[in-house]
Amino acid sequence: MTAAIQDIRARLDAFDTRHAPTGLFLRYAHGRVAHFWGRQVMTLLGSLALLFLAGPVFGLMAVVMALAGEIVDCGLLRAVPGLLKRGVNPARLSRLAILSAGFQAATIGACIVLAWHGVPDDAATAFAMAFAAGAAINAGLVLPFHRHAALVRLVIYAATMAGLFLSEILTLGHLSQRALFDLIATGIMGYAIHIFLGFVTSGHRRHTSNSRELLVQSLDLARANTHLKDQQREARNLSLVARHANDSVIMAEPDGCIFWVNEAFTRITGYSLQEARGLRPSELLNAPDTDLAVSDGVAAAVTAGRAHRAEILNQRKDGGLIWIETNIVPVLDEAGAVEMVISIERDISSAKTHEAELAKAKIAAEKGERAKASFLATMSHEIRTPMNGIIGMADLLAEAPLDSGNRHYVQTIRQSANALLRIINDILEFSRLDAGKPVLHANVFAPADCIGEALAILKPQARAKGLTLDLLIGGALPDRVTGDDGRLRQILINIVGNAIKFTPRGGVTIRASARREGDGHEFRFEIEDTGIGIAPDRVAHVFDEFEQADTATTRQFGGTGLGLSISRLLAREMGGDITLTSTLGQGSCFTVTLHMATAPDATQRPPAPPEQPPDFAHRVVLVAEDNRTNRLLVRKYLEDTPLTLLFAENGREAVEMTRRHRPDIVLMDMSMPEMDGLTATRAIRDDAPAQPRIVALTANAFASDRAACLAAGMNGFLTKPLRKDDLLRVLAQSTAPAPFPFPPPADLS
Ligand code: ADP
Repeated sequence: MTAAIQDIRARLDAFDTRHAPTGLFLRYAHGRVAHFWGRQVMTLLGSLALLFLAGPVFGLMAVVMALAGEIVDCGLLRAVPGLLKRGVNPARLSRLAILSAGFQAATIGACIVLAWHGVPDDAATAFAMAFAAGAAINAGLVLPFHRHAALVRLVIYAATMAGLFLSEILTLGHLSQRALFDLIATGIMGYAIHIFLGFVTSGHRRHTSNSRELLVQSLDLARANTHLKDQQREARNLSLVARHANDSVIMAEPDGCIFWVNEAFTRITGYSLQEARGLRPSELLNAPDTDLAVSDGVAAAVTAGRAHRAEILNQRKDGGLIWIETNIVPVLDEAGAVEMVISIERDISSAKTHEAELAKAKIAAEKGERAKASFLATMSHEIRTPMNGIIGMADLLAEAPLDSGNRHYVQTIRQSANALLRIINDILEFSRLDAGKPVLHANVFAPADCIGEALAILKPQARAKGLTLDLLIGGALPDRVTGDDGRLRQILINIVGNAIKFTPRGGVTIRASARREGDGHEFRFEIEDTGIGIAPDRVAHVFDEFEQADTATTRQFGGTGLGLSISRLLAREMGGDITLTSTLGQGSCFTVTLHMATAPDATQRPPAPPEQPPDFAHRVVLVAEDNRTNRLLVRKYLEDTPLTLLFAENGREAVEMTRRHRPDIVLMDMSMPEMDGLTATRAIRDDAPAQPRIVALTANAFASDRAACLAAGMNGFLTKPLRKDDLLRVLAQSTAPAPFPFPPPADLS
């Protein structure tokens, strides 16, 4: 609220207070007291007149009576403000003031009677009448302030005059001519006083109402003035914002023609207000490559008077192209018709360029991902195929009678080939896990067996280095749980294998325990070694992919730096984690936690079928393989079995031989010349008269490859390098009467 409004409002409040009943009463009291001496002049003159004309007794009596009345009345009225302040009831005080007014009027009435009857020969009747008239006018003047006090006085004066005439009639029995004239004169004076007082009262009322109206109007005016000033300030601010905004602002008529643009518009487009005025933005700014659908959308929104947002290609005055984001806001009049259209436009050229670069980068990244995937697949295939030959032949050679020197050479070949295979598997496994969540299998297994198997694999290594390998089981492990035993074995082999690898003397201790948690079991494995340990600043990094504690490790022990990344990823996927504490030169302790679900009740599971020896007699196996070494390997692996072996060198030959020889099992290489294994499988599934079991024999180890084999109609999957045991196991399963199960990839589980 401004000072002007506050001031007027205060004046209005004060006015209302002054004109409220209590305010008027106070003013009445104040006025009567203030004019006390003025009134006494009249009393004195009247009393003097009586003193000289009627004698000193009359004069003194009149003075005493008049003064007594005034003193009582004014004495009370003088005390009124103080009494009100002290909380005395205003209505009560007002009633007292009526009584004191009555008393004061009665004393004046007595003076009038004194003049009327005290002066001989009725010489002072006119004087008495004038006295009464003066007193009545005086009394009537306070009508607006204290109506009842004023009326009481007027009534008393009128009654006094009436009483005088009545006493005349009663005394004489009639009215004398003089009395009659006096009565008429009194009536005329009374009427004149009535008119006068009516005029005074209504004038006062009018004045009061006009004064209040004036104050109210002043208040309204002050408010309107303030509002106007606010609006002017807002309009000025808006105009400053529009003028100096960084975005361009265009104001257009309802038909879309521009009538105002700001400086930013000129800065962004190069067109001045004069050049833009009267044209539509599309006429001024559309480029040859502007999307007309977008431009039409903007025009339609303007015509329809609806808000619209669009990104549009514009052409600057100098021919340069810019991308603009435009926001159209129609301004409607009270009837809802479009009054004008405001467009706020922003130059988004750099954002657009950035967006295009991002899209390009995304495409490049995706292309890179695809290239990486295909590179890995190719590498996998290309490395595994010769590895198949190396490992297979080395395995066969190891079975042959050799002297100790040659046996040592063969062992070295086998160990090196296995180490190389582990590296390839690590890289493939990591790239596979990195691309998505690992798929966990839910098998029912005995944890103690799984741990025992993992350690059995590693025992020879520990023994070879003269290390102890101890398993301590804290409390009882659950007999059976549901989870991925393959992955658990993989984690343990990796961490215990590392512990053996990085421990030159002493040993490795594995503490295993489990406790019930929720609907399953929380497993905890602590693998502690007395090995080389890890420097504190490297502890956090050994879990990062391709990270090793120090570069000398790679040289001394080999490895890819992927094992721990893979193990931790798997542990987390199994609801746990892997943590590490280590002291350089003293040893390390890895803690693995995992969650395994409870196994279903063993009594409800169907009994396992009795194991039967494989029946290979009279079985025909067709091996579709383009690589001569691999064909030789399969032949050698199976030469001790009664199986009949046939060989095809490509997919087409495999399809024809299947039709001709009706084999029981086809071992199908995936990539072969002329026709690949998938196409050949589909062809066999489409038209061969007797359907064989088909097992993929492939160097491609990805899950996607396995899915492709299944989709093509294959029943099994064997990855290269091919191991004799795996081959015999799969062949045994495919000759079994039960439905052919799908074995997990032999290399990665
Ligand atoms: P890799 O063993 O193939 O190099 P890992 O991811 O399994 O890859 O291990 C990463 C690194 O962590 C190792 O190279 C080694 O530096 C360190 N490391 C792992 N286990 C141990 C251990 N028990 N003692 C000392 N260092 C270890």
